[in-house]
Amino acid sequence: MMLVEYGRPLVMRERSPPVPRAGEIRVRIGACGVCRTDLHVVDGELPKVPLPLVPGHEIVGLIEEIGSGVTRLELGQRVGIPWLGHTCQQCAYCLSGRENLCDRPLFTGYTRDGGYATHAVADARYAFALPDGKPDPSLAPLLCAGLIGWRSLRMAGDAKCLGLYGFGAAAHIVAQVAKWEGRRIFAFTRGGDTDSQTFALRLGAEWAGASDQEPPEPLDAAIVYAPVGTLVPQALKAVRKGGRVVCAGIHMSNIPSFPYRLLWEERQVVSVANLTRDDGEGFFRLVPQMGIETKVSTYPLAEANRALADLRQGRVLGAAVLSM
Ligand SMILES: [Zn+2]
Ligand SMILES: [Zn+2]
Repeated sequence: MMLVEYGRPLVMRERSPPVPRAGEIRVRIGACGVCRTDLHVVDGELPKVPLPLVPGHEIVGLIEEIGSGVTRLELGQRVGIPWLGHTCQQCAYCLSGRENLCDRPLFTGYTRDGGYATHAVADARYAFALPDGKPDPSLAPLLCAGLIGWRSLRMAGDAKCLGLYGFGAAAHIVAQVAKWEGRRIFAFTRGGDTDSQTFALRLGAEWAGASDQEPPEPLDAAIVYAPVGTLVPQALKAVRKGGRVVCAGIHMSNIPSFPYRLLWEERQVVSVANLTRDDGEGFFRLVPQMGIETKVSTYPLAEANRALADLRQGRVLGAAVLSM
């Protein structure tokens, strides 16, 4: 399913399976998650890249061909291919352990073809071996919602009382991880979205309310997943002195101006960009222990446009996933 024009529906095209070059693998895709970033890509809200393009960066598949020089993965192995598709390993960021900020990266489903397809080619060094025992669609959301969620949770430090703004694919995973780590969860959703609030409470949040409501006690940190700039001052209002607001999305509507007193007393606003392979390895090592249950709505590949529309309209509880 290809993006051939920004702002237009994806179109199905047939082409021969891509051939992996040296250092690459080709996977037969079992499932690919549908992420909010895909909406920003197809809407042209991120810096525009040449089209056509296959979106999708939460790929789960089996390796069916291996290019020369790949030693850490083998044929038939199940792997996940995330957003971070390649880094240069030469810039100051790569050399200082911050490859998520690489000056010359490639991103799956954005600057290289992604997983809204039956096959994908990837740089083998950036693919993750996946744990056994779960079907492909239930693992797909871990590749971005889980990984970026994981990184944003690390950015929240040791916050005990944690606010999550926007209770979608990422938050529903992070809530489970945070519970497992012994944190207390406060979930904020669009006003009147009682389905998401009930869902959050079922996943262990001790409070759920509308995003303009005050939590019952000050938060140590808040993570903003919804791409809505007005949530930043609201979250600042909800965190205590020295608290931190982590913006976890790749794109957000403008943040309105707000009184300095909301930032005063050493409150911080930070953003999270991409992931590193270390994040991924740390996360997937713990996945079997954490007992994460993803809630997914699956769609056939040909209905990728319907999946994107449902995500856009807020009709997806948990994560949307294309199942091939
Ligand atoms: Zn680099
Ligand atoms: Zn994503």
